[in-house]
Amino acid sequence: MIANWNDLVEYYGTDINAHRSCLSKAHQSTYAMLACKWSARDPARIANQSGEHAEERLLKTAIWTDDIPSAMENRTDLDSEPMVITLALNRSPCGHCAMALTAALEKLQFNYSKRFENTVFILASLGYYQSSKYMSDDHEQEHAESGAPIWVTTAKGMEQLENAGWKLAVLSFDNNVTQRGQELADYLS
Ligand SMILES: [Zn+2]
Repeated sequence: MIANWNDLVEYYGTDINAHRSCLSKAHQSTYAMLACKWSARDPARIANQSGEHAEERLLKTAIWTDDIPSAMENRTDLDSEPMVITLALNRSPCGHCAMALTAALEKLQFNYSKRFENTVFILASLGYYQSSKYMSDDHEQEHAESGAPIWVTTAKGMEQLENAGWKLAVLSFDNNVTQRGQELADYLS
């Protein structure tokens, strides 16, 4: 699945363009944006984090902890349009964050199983990061000490995300995917 930035702008509005530049570059540090919209009439709610495990820290923002659960709670069966929640990243999540994102979605599914069916959670990453050459020295050390590849994207992590209900997508700008985006696309196909 490809998540085109222009489609996201069409859905969430031009406010998300403030995050375009950071999301479209594969910096060494992570940049993450969470965008939600409760209905076509509502303005988008947007949050962002950057740096180490940015995506995990987004799960601690009020949008995730309070607003999304209450929006799911308040949905009526008459709401035919699905509610689309997008988490966009400038790299695919590391194994550690994949576990956190998986647990977060499993919790929502447990609490709002009926609403969950009419809510779409998209995890759109610019590219696939598995190689150690993209890790800083600190990360490599952490990796070595823990014995588990928690700083890189793992196949297991991606599988868990998908099983939890995340729609895994490649983030695309101007209909182009990066080389690592293509790797992610190949991996997901
Ligand atoms: Zn992480």
